[in-house]
Amino acid sequence: MAADGKEFGSCCESLKEAMAGEDFEPLISESEEGILYMSVGIAEMDDKEQGMIDHPMFFCPFCGTKVQTPEEVDAKGGGDHPTH
Ligand SMILES: [Zn+2]
Repeated sequence: MAADGKEFGSCCESLKEAMAGEDFEPLISESEEGILYMSVGIAEMDDKEQGMIDHPMFFCPFCGTKVQTPEEVDAKGGGDHPTH
């Protein structure tokens, strides 16, 4: 859930479509903790496999709406982290 209690992606169609990823693998996604992350790069993991580096997304890149705050991400135990 976003800062205003709405679902992530409710601010505009562009974000909604970017999260849906119907024709591609989305790089913006909501974690199990309810934090919205965007992938910012590809890194080599310990097992030599490539993994995506995710960073919490605070503002929608398409319309500029604030979607969550650093405090909310902290409260949910989020932060920079490698995933996938
Ligand atoms: Zn938006």
